[in-house]
Amino acid sequence: MADQTAKTQVSTKQKAEEEKVHVFEAWCKRCEICVAFCPTGALTSDKDGFPVLTYPEKCTQCGMCELRCPDFAIAVRPREKKESKKGSS
Ligand code: SF4
Ligand code: SF4
Repeated sequence: MADQTAKTQVSTKQKAEEEKVHVFEAWCKRCEICVAFCPTGALTSDKDGFPVLTYPEKCTQCGMCELRCPDFAIAVRPREKKESKKGSS
C-alpha cells in the first residue's frame, strides 16, 4: 500500500535522524548538562534523566552536547561532508 510505503520512508528517515547523537548510558550520570547546553532544544531528558534526542530534526550536529559532557557519555555523529584533505603532513 502506498500509505505503508510512506510510513516506512518516514520511519527510516526518523531513525537516521535519531542516530545523529548517541548516548552511552553506562557512562551517563544524568546531570543534564548536555540538555541545558543544547542550543536548539533538540535534546531533552527522559523520565529517568537520560538525554534523548526528542527533536532530531532540530539537531544541527553542532557538537555542543558532546563538548560539554564531563563524562564523554554522548557522541555526535559527524556531519556527512565531502571534503578531502590534501598535503596535511
Ligand atoms: S549536536 Fe548540538 S543541536 Fe544536536 S543535540 Fe547536541 S547540542 Fe543539541
Ligand atoms: S552531560 Fe553527559 S553525563 Fe550529563 S546527562 Fe548529558 S550525557 Fe549524561
